[in-house]
Amino acid sequence: MIEKIFRAMFRLEDLRQILRETAPDHHLSDEQKEDFEKTLAELKMVFDTKDGQKLKYLTDKIELRTREEEYINIDPIQSAGRLTPEARKVLIAYGDGYSVCDYCFKPFRLDYIKRPPVAEFMAELAEFVGMDVVRVVRGARNGFQIVSNALLDKGDVALVSSLAHYTLCIAIESVGALWKEIRVDEHNVITAENTANKIEEVKEQTGKLPKLVAVSHFDYMFANEHDIYGIGKVCKEYDIPFLYNGAYTVGVMPVDGKKIGADFVVGSGHKSMAAPAPTGVLATTEDFADIVFATTKLKGDITGRQFGIKETQLLGCTVMGAPLVAMMASFPKVKERVKHWDEEVEKSRFFIAEFLKIKGNKISSEMPRKHTLTKVDTRDSFDLIAKTHKRRGYFLYDELTKRKITGIFPGTTREFKLNTYGLNWEQVKYLANAFKEIAEKYELE
Ligand SMILES: *Cc1c(COP(=O)(O)O)cnc(C)c1O
Repeated sequence: MIEKIFRAMFRLEDLRQILRETAPDHHLSDEQKEDFEKTLAELKMVFDTKDGQKLKYLTDKIELRTREEEYINIDPIQSAGRLTPEARKVLIAYGDGYSVCDYCFKPFRLDYIKRPPVAEFMAELAEFVGMDVVRVVRGARNGFQIVSNALLDKGDVALVSSLAHYTLCIAIESVGALWKEIRVDEHNVITAENTANKIEEVKEQTGKLPKLVAVSHFDYMFANEHDIYGIGKVCKEYDIPFLYNGAYTVGVMPVDGKKIGADFVVGSGHKSMAAPAPTGVLATTEDFADIVFATTKLKGDITGRQFGIKETQLLGCTVMGAPLVAMMASFPKVKERVKHWDEEVEKSRFFIAEFLKIKGNKISSEMPRKHTLTKVDTRDSFDLIAKTHKRRGYFLYDELTKRKITGIFPGTTREFKLNTYGLNWEQVKYLANAFKEIAEKYELE
């Protein structure tokens, strides 16, 4: 069925192309008329033929992507970035390059555009994360980079978690600053106390305080919850700017940056806001907005040119066209879905409880789960099977694929991550049963 749907959509695009080629009056040549009629006839046929040819490629070498239609996808990073139907429709309509610039007038900046309602979206987005000012950026990583650029000088120290995402470390490195790690406690959690200790340690070693502390609410390795309120407080006491990394929270659960005591809130559109890549959120307070979103000051020495109110660290306008408008299109549903985070966690806990019924299965993440992303440990269950299976570690992947489940890394049977976000109860139960079926097949208790 999905191939038929794609086939029909592609025929529609072919028809659309004829309109583009014959704009503005659409006087079709005989050849174009014939082409149009033929394509229209093909379109009408698509759903009438029993099971037409298999359609593998969308165009030369580029395959159709049907993962979300054909499988239950538990990929740790993909679950909450799946698009809403509204966002997918936007991709069709706004795909052309600078499409969002149709009605960009003075003062010529993305966040002022009223049609489509970018300005309104930005205001709502700031409120959504409980901050004063927000910009859409090119992924969470670009948010880190912008803050690093604005706050850090060469040789400055920024503190990150021992579980920090590589993009945060690299963003700090990219401006010539250094990142130092805050130790996790015995439960793999970053505490306020360890944060304060690290601040003291850096002060002792360098004679200066760190210039920034950046910690994720839920990390990407275990999705453990870190004490961001406590860390926010410590940062206030030392007067060090605090960046709240919400890559795994903004867009799936309620986030209130002010309440947390964050100076910056960073989110990821393609990870947690049902938006296409590359999209992210960088929000801040009135205090920091003038620093991070400072506008261009220079003038051309020959021409005297100036670039108005373009924001220097952002390189003027950031995410343009389809990704931005698609993010906007998903936003009403994203605002609604964060209110139902409890149920997502409940489904995650249900799955984990079922998963733990298989003897030898363990959970590497903190328990009980507070997130839909979980790292599981199957060294004493599925990995024992892999030791003698002719497909080795791939057997689990094969068995899951047969059951139309995808998203775990091929070949892993030791520790792996999975994410149940967005699955309905039926799908979660199906997923749990699939693991139990596989266990039974290989005679695990
Ligand atoms: C995924 C992730 C990022 C990177 O997000 P992008 O939007 O792809 O740049 C950063 N930090 C954490 C904790 C993440 O999980």
